[in-house]
Amino acid sequence: MAFVITDPCIGTKDAACVDVCPVDCIHPRKDEPEFATSTMLYIHPDECIDCGACVPACPVAAIYDSPDSTPASQKALIQANAVYRANDADAMARAEALVKAHVAGHADLMGIAPAERAAAHAK
Ligand code: SF4
Ligand code: SF4
Repeated sequence: MAFVITDPCIGTKDAACVDVCPVDCIHPRKDEPEFATSTMLYIHPDECIDCGACVPACPVAAIYDSPDSTPASQKALIQANAVYRANDADAMARAEALVKAHVAGHADLMGIAPAERAAAHAK
């Protein structure tokens, strides 16, 4: 299991979670070239040690503690987290395509400010 970043990160992307992760499994970091163009950040599911430090650090409640606890509306982003790899343009393109499709399919959620978006996940 691993923690999962979901769509309140879109439009926020402040990297607060990166600063507290003890194993550097959240990318892209601000010092990586992909940061400027990534729509959101991603947690590498094989590297995450499930410590939970990123959850309280996130100002918009974007991070769920497992794929199982990730709401149905966010399921496509589980795969986006899983396929992204730092410094891999093809992997980033695959992740970003999943995010783009999620955004296109959830105009309702995208119309909500990031800080309130997580509250709408379960509705
Ligand atoms: S749960 Fe811990 S290891 Fe996993 S992404 Fe969050 S801070 Fe990093
Ligand atoms: S702290 Fe939350 S909003 Fe900020 S980059 Fe991490 S997941 Fe995204």
